[in-house]
Amino acid sequence: MNYATIKYNDVANGPGVRTSLFVSGCTHRCKGCFNEVAWDFDYGEKYTKEVEDQIIESLKPSYIKGLTLLGGEPFEPQNQEALVALTSRIRKELPTKTIWCFSGYTIENMLSGKLSKIKSTASLLNNIDILVDGPFVESEKSLMLKFRGSKNQRIIEVKKTLEKNEIILWEE
Ligand code: SF4
Repeated sequence: MNYATIKYNDVANGPGVRTSLFVSGCTHRCKGCFNEVAWDFDYGEKYTKEVEDQIIESLKPSYIKGLTLLGGEPFEPQNQEALVALTSRIRKELPTKTIWCFSGYTIENMLSGKLSKIKSTASLLNNIDILVDGPFVESEKSLMLKFRGSKNQRIIEVKKTLEKNEIILWEE
């Protein structure tokens, strides 16, 4: 996996102060995408064990609320393995930190669509606390939305949604 950038002390992509990992590669090609350069899977730097260690280290201070995954597309099959490893480490080593993920795929696709056929999809989804799902739709764009670009996107509580088998939206 390659990544475009890592933002430390990020306050724009989830609640509180976070580390945000922007992975490379996205096949959605949404019109009006905020980060077109990251569509290319070869864009940016190689994601290595050293980078993973650096991210883990950055999450340790008590004022850091957690990690946010975005891109690019974290749920592209090519990106899943590295992100399962990273998020599993956080679950084990830093269990109080929250994990947010922005994906152009919907949770329905992950649970019962094409993505559900890839074994690591469930592992990655299970490690995430909050999923902001769905593609960016320019005609539904609104600057009034918090943590979302367009109205079709949903901020989903993953664990509650899986437990209740219905979409439970995050409330601040
Ligand atoms: S899913 Fe995100 S990164 Fe991918 S094209 Fe859409 S807005 Fe851009």
